[in-house]
Amino acid sequence: MEKKITKLVLATGNQGKAREFAAMLAPFGCEIVMQKELGVKEPQETGLSFLENAIIKARAASVQTRMPALADDSGLCVDALNGAPGIYSARFCGEHGNDEGNNAKLLELLKNVPEKKRTARYWCALCLVRYPEDPVPLCVTASWEGSIAFKAQGKGGFGYDPLFLVKGRDCTAASLPPEIKDLISHRACALQKLLAELCY
Ligand code: IMP
Repeated sequence: MEKKITKLVLATGNQGKAREFAAMLAPFGCEIVMQKELGVKEPQETGLSFLENAIIKARAASVQTRMPALADDSGLCVDALNGAPGIYSARFCGEHGNDEGNNAKLLELLKNVPEKKRTARYWCALCLVRYPEDPVPLCVTASWEGSIAFKAQGKGGFGYDPLFLVKGRDCTAASLPPEIKDLISHRACALQKLLAELCY
């Protein structure tokens, strides 16, 4: 059996993701260090899938720090937009990480789309590179079903959460208590799969 990982570098600069991972990994005795603190130079996300980009990010962080590295590549896929913004979710409006601009663009593109046709899902790909040369990075994916609201609701979460109506619940992801989002989201489900593979 492999040695338990007690410290890893998180290959993201996204504070929303970092908060969620810190909360979800704390019960497993796994300490997270942000890649920025270790001076990691972020690679170009040149993949065409969430998985490819997750591998690129985790590999770069592990190679530069010589530590185990966990990367999350995630995004929103809207059916009426043929899966957009997809892997371009973070920079949908043209500026990386501009959540307000991204949400405004999404609402504008969907302004004439009726409720029934506004279905969407979040996807999350996680990749754990256990050491810089790891030839078998651990990769998992998970999704979270929902639809796109007509206006923003809720103050929690990040990114598209104020517009993402959670399937089976009468609220957006931004209206959920964080501990509930951390149980049922695409990121939570992917992390549960990864931890199961690691036998944690
Ligand atoms: P990445 O950092 O390149 O993986 O881009 C992720 C982007 O997808 C974020 O900037 C958000 O726009 C969106 N996203 C991913 N997960 C979530 C989530 O849990 N809530 C809201 N937006 C998300």
